[in-house]
Amino acid sequence: MKIGVLALQGAFVEHRKKLEKLGVEVVEVRLPRDLEGLDGLIIPGGESTTIGKLATEYGLIEPLTAFARNKPVWGTCAGMIFMARDIGVRQPLLGLMDITVQRNAFGRQVDSFETELDIEGLNGGGPFPAIFIRAPRIADVDEEDVQVLARLEDGSAVAARQGHWLVTSFHPELSDDDRLHRYFISLINDQK
Ligand code: GLN
Repeated sequence: MKIGVLALQGAFVEHRKKLEKLGVEVVEVRLPRDLEGLDGLIIPGGESTTIGKLATEYGLIEPLTAFARNKPVWGTCAGMIFMARDIGVRQPLLGLMDITVQRNAFGRQVDSFETELDIEGLNGGGPFPAIFIRAPRIADVDEEDVQVLARLEDGSAVAARQGHWLVTSFHPELSDDDRLHRYFISLINDQK
């Protein structure tokens, strides 16, 4: 199995390490040709405006959209913003998932926090240690097509799945828990 990590900006190295620990071959994606032969792609956290700008500059928007049609893609934090159909402001997006996302929904940098999260689909192992850094939240979903996998106590949706696409508001690559990375690998195995 070969998984790509979009490596334009942000926390791509941490995703890479996590996947390699699970025995997966990882490719850092910077150009359209890097997508060839990949079974799935992770779009990391970082700054969604920067990721969108660089993706536009490197001619990646259309190839990424085409790739996502048949292949699993997982966006974490800024990656989730980049995958959303609507974020209420204008910046380059892939517009894949039928979700409305609110950027910086929990305040500024000082408001970063960690919490224990119950996530649907992670078989056992208890709550997931979720690290939120200037995180977005899912403000609205098309409930016919999108399944919300986790909510904070205040009701904010922070993880969701639409077919072979996955989004999480937080940074699973920064905690010791590898269950979400294994969950993504299982989406790829289902898709093959
Ligand atoms: N606040 C960032 C944005 O809007 C996302 C933060 C993150 O990825 N940790 O793009």
